[in-house]
Amino acid sequence: MPKPVRVRFAPSPTGPLHVGGLRTALYNYLLAKKNGGSFILRIEDTDTKREVEGSYKYIEEALNWCGLTPDESPSQGGDYGPYKQSERKGIYKEYINKLIENGSAYYAFDKVEDLDKHRKNHEKRGKTFIYNAHNRLKLVNSLSLKKNEVEDLLKTTPYVVRFKMPEEKVIDFYDEIRGKIEVYSRELDDKVLFKSDQMPTYHFANVVDDHLMNITHVIRGEEWLPSLPLHVLLYKSFGWSPPSFAHIALILKPNGKGKLSKRDGKKFGFPVFPLEWKNGEGKFMAFKSFGILPEALINYMALLGWSKRDNKELYFIDELIESFDINSIGKSGAKFDFEKLMWLNAQHIQKLSSEDIVERESKLGKGDGLEISKGVIDLIKSRLDRLGNIKTEYDYLFGQQELDPVLKNKLINDDSLSFLRKYKTALEKSFGNAGELKSLLNVCSTIGFGKSMGAMRLCLVGKLAGPDLFELMVFLGKDEVLKRVGSILA
Ligand code: GLU
Repeated sequence: MPKPVRVRFAPSPTGPLHVGGLRTALYNYLLAKKNGGSFILRIEDTDTKREVEGSYKYIEEALNWCGLTPDESPSQGGDYGPYKQSERKGIYKEYINKLIENGSAYYAFDKVEDLDKHRKNHEKRGKTFIYNAHNRLKLVNSLSLKKNEVEDLLKTTPYVVRFKMPEEKVIDFYDEIRGKIEVYSRELDDKVLFKSDQMPTYHFANVVDDHLMNITHVIRGEEWLPSLPLHVLLYKSFGWSPPSFAHIALILKPNGKGKLSKRDGKKFGFPVFPLEWKNGEGKFMAFKSFGILPEALINYMALLGWSKRDNKELYFIDELIESFDINSIGKSGAKFDFEKLMWLNAQHIQKLSSEDIVERESKLGKGDGLEISKGVIDLIKSRLDRLGNIKTEYDYLFGQQELDPVLKNKLINDDSLSFLRKYKTALEKSFGNAGELKSLLNVCSTIGFGKSMGAMRLCLVGKLAGPDLFELMVFLGKDEVLKRVGSILA
């Protein structure tokens, strides 16, 4: 029987979840759900210096908002916990000892200053210093020293544990997206697996945890591809069989020049984080407060980097799960296209009921005392491409409109005033449905249909924008329409 699919999203809590991480989480989630497997959130917090307060909570909230709720996580627990690496220190200690015992790893006592000196000396000679088979015997470690010297140093000196990279070996491995890859071990160094603070490095903890948590597939960003040869060797050294690997290409800036960074949001004027995030640099925009629906964001993230097989673009999560296939993930970076996201957002908004939109709007909690009704949404839904801006964009639906003075000068003159007077009198007598209001305007129009519409729109909206004029009149109701026309006539 095949092993149940278990995948993990393993962020380091060094800041908020950005679109790159979100897409990685999504692809893992889709693979798990497609195969009836488990999606695990593991927090890789062994580098305490880089930890940013609040990140873990943010990551969890952002995943939940997007509907990518993990099956196992630090807060939910599960059979393979703890799910925070800082709580697994004892486990790493046990496993590093196994590698030392079987000769795959060794203690190194070199001082940081000495290693720096070696680096500088190499640079002077136009070379790069690599701690590996070529020079490890000239350095201070348990391979170059005598047994009793090592024992003494272990008691008195800070040390690290390094991986003993094989001298001449072709390391070959397979990536689901990139295919077969070969790397020469002589190009790699004896990476530190265990630091002097008794914490494992990313590589070591990551491999040990993926094995102990029974992870079957590792889907992560391509920035981790260079680490893969070491990871593969670590699995071999333990005698474990590795999971499948898929390294996904980067999300690029809209102009295609380099990786989309967290600062690019401010630069290009769109959000890159699901939820709001504040730090010393200020407040970062969020998809949520910008009025992007989580389902649209997820839809867009899935398409980004997915080499298209048909022309379908609008997907709901169940359809994404159904269609997901690691082999259809593209090899090259995908440019972030905010307009495309907005287009998808509009498509998803059209699929919501007006009641649902009202509820989502109220949850955005703008706290201004104005209430968005179902009637408002019925009127403008077809024009909406985001939530959260209805009260400002459609201020005239809440009686908050201001008359554009330039347009007033242009459109209001003796002729249009006489039309407005005539129409107002007619409306006072009979205020029917949209079709009737239109016919009545035609009857009263002394300045042509277009100009009459413009003058009426200016009275009701304050500018030349908005939904169908006659539907708007029905929405506002007789009293309000007469009041707004009257205030221009006054
Ligand atoms: N902790 C790594 C990160 O922050 C995880 C990489 C991996 O998925 O192996 O992205």
